[in-house]
Amino acid sequence: MTFSEQLTNWYLPNKRDLPWRNTQDPYKIWLSEIILQQTRIEQGLSYYYTFVEKYPTVADLAAAELDAVLKDWEGLGYYSRARNLHFTANSVMDSLNGKFPNSYEELLKLKGVGTYTAAAISSFASKEKRAVVDGNVYRVLGRLYNIEDPIDANPGKKRYQEIADDLISDKYPDLHNQAIMEFGATHCTKHKPKCETCIFQKQCLAFQKNTIDSRPVKKKKNKIQNRYLNFYHIADQNNFLIQQRTDKGIWFQLYQLPLHESLDKRGFDNHIPNLELLGDFEIFSIHPDRNLIHLLSHQKLHIRFWKIEVKELKKIEQHQLVSLADPVAKAFPKPISEFLQNQLKPKLFQK
Ligand code: SF4
Repeated sequence: MTFSEQLTNWYLPNKRDLPWRNTQDPYKIWLSEIILQQTRIEQGLSYYYTFVEKYPTVADLAAAELDAVLKDWEGLGYYSRARNLHFTANSVMDSLNGKFPNSYEELLKLKGVGTYTAAAISSFASKEKRAVVDGNVYRVLGRLYNIEDPIDANPGKKRYQEIADDLISDKYPDLHNQAIMEFGATHCTKHKPKCETCIFQKQCLAFQKNTIDSRPVKKKKNKIQNRYLNFYHIADQNNFLIQQRTDKGIWFQLYQLPLHESLDKRGFDNHIPNLELLGDFEIFSIHPDRNLIHLLSHQKLHIRFWKIEVKELKKIEQHQLVSLADPVAKAFPKPISEFLQNQLKPKLFQK
């Protein structure tokens, strides 16, 4: 029995029933793949349902406002994925007459689609023989073959892809790809893999050499940058101020409260709001409201929200006024969205 046959024999009775596994529509598979990048299935599932319901075709997604798409993406993080979705939907409408591609080569031309995503969509949608290599596949192959080449350097990547290409089934590339990723996600897991019941135990070199915990090998460690953000909730009786982020860093094009970023921890600890920003508003009170830490893949955000009450709020340049009664109409980064929802709570009890 080939490796692929063993793998699919394991997969069929063990697989999870996930909605994108029941379609061959490349558009819906693409949605699921973009949503699931850097995201756990449990978290991505509700977003997939939202997107398929609100934007059942690529034309619906292209016709939507970017702001609405970002709002639907709120809380999922890595917002460039949502911007790429919207951009790509429009380019499929403009350049491909609205027909979403299902071949590897055509898929690779789409913004935000790399070799892994193109292989996944083309194999699932049209059974093209293209082997996927994602984090789960790196782990499974790294352990089975006890590979010492790092997965974050080109020679290693090339070697893994060659092994994956050798192993994939001619007849059922779609099932094979699903199966190897599922095996990595649920059986050969990062922590506590189920080696005792593993069908590959006898072949697994990492099991024999006791190197499971150090496979796959990674060269670089992620460097975490600390950032110190002061957000001002500037409000009168009815409204508060927001602004759209224009820096091409985190949260690009999302909305936020007016921001002052401190250079370091000392500046953050000693910070008091920049009153110049407020123009000639009559200020009733200023006080820090809450501190929190928000972790991103490469950044640790130290966040402090300030509550600043003024007599009468006026619109200021590059800011918008939003009603206090409708604080989350725009797409905000998760910590700001949660803060704003909390502001609303006391009002719900006033009636
Ligand atoms: Fe993974 Fe353990 Fe099976 Fe090796 S024996 S493939 S480490 S589950």
